[in-house]
Amino acid sequence: MTTTATRPVSPLPAAPANEIPMDPETGAPATVARKLDLPEGVRPYVYRWHVIIAIALIHLAAVPAFFPAFFSWSGVAVMVFGIYFWGMIGINVCYHRLLTHKGFVTPKWFEHVLAMIAVCNLEGTPAAWVAAHRRHHQHSDHQPDPHSPLVNFLWGHILWLFVENPHVDTAEGVKKYCVDLFRDPFYKSMEENKLWLLLYPAHAVLITALGFGVGLWSTGTTEGAWSLAWSWLFWGVFVRTVAVWHITWSVNSFTHTFGYRNYETDEDSRNNWWVAILSGGEGWHNNHHADQRAAAHGHKWWEFDLTYWTIRGFRAVGLAKELVQPKEWGERKI
Ligand SMILES: [Zn+2]
Ligand SMILES: [Zn+2]
Repeated sequence: MTTTATRPVSPLPAAPANEIPMDPETGAPATVARKLDLPEGVRPYVYRWHVIIAIALIHLAAVPAFFPAFFSWSGVAVMVFGIYFWGMIGINVCYHRLLTHKGFVTPKWFEHVLAMIAVCNLEGTPAAWVAAHRRHHQHSDHQPDPHSPLVNFLWGHILWLFVENPHVDTAEGVKKYCVDLFRDPFYKSMEENKLWLLLYPAHAVLITALGFGVGLWSTGTTEGAWSLAWSWLFWGVFVRTVAVWHITWSVNSFTHTFGYRNYETDEDSRNNWWVAILSGGEGWHNNHHADQRAAAHGHKWWEFDLTYWTIRGFRAVGLAKELVQPKEWGERKI
């Protein structure tokens, strides 16, 4: 059953007018449903076993990292750097701010390189990710948002991935939201065959080989080389993949539940400082919902947004231009 509750009058500035539905009777921002049923169209008992098994296996594969035999501080460093490189650049810069929201412009070849980095997080193809996220923005915290925590917290975090939702996980559903991406043969081919999945083992082999090389150089023994190779594989690939997943999922669950709001938007998005730190800026999610195209999600001076500064870095070396600035800042593009 769906119930609604009217928001109390808020002192917050309203989000930019073109994005908030207003209640025709009160003239106030539309009410937010406090509890939602499963999104319309979801088949709650039709499981996506390939997703469930993949998520379970990668979580299991991360466990040996915590055995002393496979622990190394350099492995931990490779994981932390990997969260930034594969996760933040791949998911935040490419999938989210570039492909979903067109927050800036980049050369096509570079966009494709970024997309290949992104698929190494096993969060699906560019079009599938973009489709689910655009549908989330279209219906945020209302029916049929694919992953609102108003269904329940775990649904918003992970369970929505486990059951079929034809609107976001079938070819027709994805295409409906990604006509722009389907015009590009690169993204279209990723929807038509599974070759992109090979990038995951390929990048794992690369990281493991690098660990072997560094281990050989630093210890001078094959035994030392293998020891570091295994450590980099477990920390730099499996633990990192799990970390990036939970960081992405936390944006869907925690930042629609816990945190403060700068803008009175028509959903429950929040700015959550610890999600913002872990995710490199995606935690300033209320700002993002209020001004979706902006390449910067931190709007106040203290809302540090590493993803935005990375895009600024790309701009400095000529790989990004026409950055859409928050309306709050005035000038729209730099
Ligand atoms: Zn978004
Ligand atoms: Zn959201």
